[in-house]
Amino acid sequence: MTYGKFSAPPPVAPNPTHFPKLNGVVTVENCYYYLSFLERFWTFMDTMTLQEQRHYLARAEVRYEKWIHNHFSPMLVPPLDIAFMWHVHKLSPFRCYEDLVLRLPCKKLFDDPLPLYDLFKNEDLTPNDLKRWKQTFGEDEPYHLTNQNMYSGTFQRPCYRCRQVIELPWSNYYDYRFGANHTRFPHDCAPVDGINFWDVARMKLESDLMNGPVVAGTLLNPNGSVKVTLNKMIAKIRPIQVIIPQNEMDYAYERQIQEQLKFLGPDYEYDANELLYAIRTSYQGNPSPFSNDLIQAVARQRKFYSNITSIHWQYPISYMSAIRRYHDHLALIKMHPNHKAIPTIEIDVAFHTHMMDSLRYHKFTIHRVGKLINHDDDIPESSIRKHLSEWQTLWSNLQHRSIEHRYKFTKTRATDELVEGTLKVTPSIFPTTYQPGMVRIRQGKEARNLYTTLNEELVRSNNTKATMISIHSKGKEK
Ligand SMILES: [Zn+2]
Repeated sequence: MTYGKFSAPPPVAPNPTHFPKLNGVVTVENCYYYLSFLERFWTFMDTMTLQEQRHYLARAEVRYEKWIHNHFSPMLVPPLDIAFMWHVHKLSPFRCYEDLVLRLPCKKLFDDPLPLYDLFKNEDLTPNDLKRWKQTFGEDEPYHLTNQNMYSGTFQRPCYRCRQVIELPWSNYYDYRFGANHTRFPHDCAPVDGINFWDVARMKLESDLMNGPVVAGTLLNPNGSVKVTLNKMIAKIRPIQVIIPQNEMDYAYERQIQEQLKFLGPDYEYDANELLYAIRTSYQGNPSPFSNDLIQAVARQRKFYSNITSIHWQYPISYMSAIRRYHDHLALIKMHPNHKAIPTIEIDVAFHTHMMDSLRYHKFTIHRVGKLINHDDDIPESSIRKHLSEWQTLWSNLQHRSIEHRYKFTKTRATDELVEGTLKVTPSIFPTTYQPGMVRIRQGKEARNLYTTLNEELVRSNNTKATMISIHSKGKEK
């Protein structure tokens, strides 16, 4: 195992109240384990060629699909590739909730947090656990996926329409998944022409329109609660069987929806737009059962990892700062629910760590902040600057003026050089779920505004990149 920045066991906290903690899951240790997990994954990815990485991710996506349907109790520690797919799924809170709770469904998996500590320990499976793995996933499915074994066995998935298993050699599947091949192959529910993966994506939509319906992207209200009344456009359209050209599924549906709208009128416009956007982002070109393209989502995380590693993470103070600022970020969202919130890189680390416990994150943001906070928000590039400048103004008001929210420092101990004390937020915005922890400040500074001191500490540790904004959405225009 290569030695990394985040591979040594972290030192223990001086006392249980020293470190800040939010919602029981955003802890200094968990943030560290999370970075360690990213490091382990990307270090491994870097041992492969670009082509191998693509094949590895395509297989990882299919393995994650098997994982959600074969969830153990007690859970096995997921292998690195499956854990990473699960993790990027969790980073899209709306999509992840829709998929795991409403569409596929496998609520148990939604409820289980990513086992960050177990992934950090990185121990071999016990013989008994390896036996359980093989019994469930088969002899052909290795626990550790590598560039050596990722071509063994075959791709198998039941057809979304007829449930007949589609079986292909992995190298063929990889070409289909990345759009390098569109040759049709024989299949039971298309006896004349056969199918390709454009057909598979088309049948996935057809199945979701007909069954339930459970069309991804239409099941939740903007605040994240489950809709009581389903998108009413869905009942008005019929699945399209023949699409020419095949890769323009969205335009084929758009034409049909426009025709319908002529009769249905403006009452249907919102639902029509929502449905079209859903088809474009969750179905078009995405044959996987998931509503977001997890392979593309992994690619977006590469940038995030580069940003992380450009920061000097000092244990524990950088993590303590990340958690406090994440708390302040959530507090600001609660106070200004109509603004677009844009996190810095350090805030984003705590944010990601929170999302690794999807159930707690879901409950916390809905009940305590007032809405399910989305993460991979597609903020159009043209408006990022505007949102950012507004958010930064709110943020600096929070830190410098702040009648609404203030940290109070109480001295508990002093030496010749240091003053140590506890922090308290007043008024408490997330009572009982946030522990601000303790600070150590150099003598002579304690009388000054605590925030100024904390900011100075941050600058002194040469951590300026921590204050860079973190955006890893596609940034496409809606
Ligand atoms: Zn079929």
